[in-house]
Amino acid sequence: VSDASKKPHARRRPRSEGDARAYAALVLEARACDLCAAHLPFAPKPIFAAAPSARLAIVGQAPGRVAHETGVPWNDRSGERLRRLIGVDAATFYDATKVALLPMGFCFPGSGKTGDLPPRPECAETWQARFFAATPSIRLTLLVGRFAQSFHLRERAKATTTATVFAFRDYLPRFFPIPHPSPRNRFRFERDPTFERDVLPALRAEVARALAP
Ligand code: SF4
Repeated sequence: VSDASKKPHARRRPRSEGDARAYAALVLEARACDLCAAHLPFAPKPIFAAAPSARLAIVGQAPGRVAHETGVPWNDRSGERLRRLIGVDAATFYDATKVALLPMGFCFPGSGKTGDLPPRPECAETWQARFFAATPSIRLTLLVGRFAQSFHLRERAKATTTATVFAFRDYLPRFFPIPHPSPRNRFRFERDPTFERDVLPALRAEVARALAP
């Protein structure tokens, strides 16, 4: 069982040609992954974006239907809200040399009665630690929603997403847990004055710090 939370991924080291080749091989391997194909509603289509120089990582849930159809991660209203929340424009958000988009599930898991199904659990176990080991410049990882928080924080996650989000100082400087920006969470967080007062300014400051040259 991999444990990305125990692998330091903030260290920096010079990158060699060998590193670049190893990274390219990792990306090819992930793009060809069909590990959980039998459980997916469509043929596997892993959607992620990262480069070894990325300084901010965003670990979301899994691509939704629009992202699956277009091949562009966070290409929906949740993505727009996420970018607003963290104060990052689309050009920066989609610059893989700055921002690594590494969801818990790389492929669209399908929809259930109340929304998208959870990300396939074997995906994070297979890819998270490997991608974080290959992106040593990451300064801050945003853990978006409970799946990312449970996986990376393990026993340090609180009983609820809300409690984990409001305890964000416990996880800095490496992690910042945030709510999933789905329309269902809108009234719980975006219009919550406590969230706006206590969490948002720190979130935007930490994101700016991570992206600073
Ligand atoms: S969801 Fe992850 S583990 Fe499953 S096929 Fe896609 S990339 Fe592979």
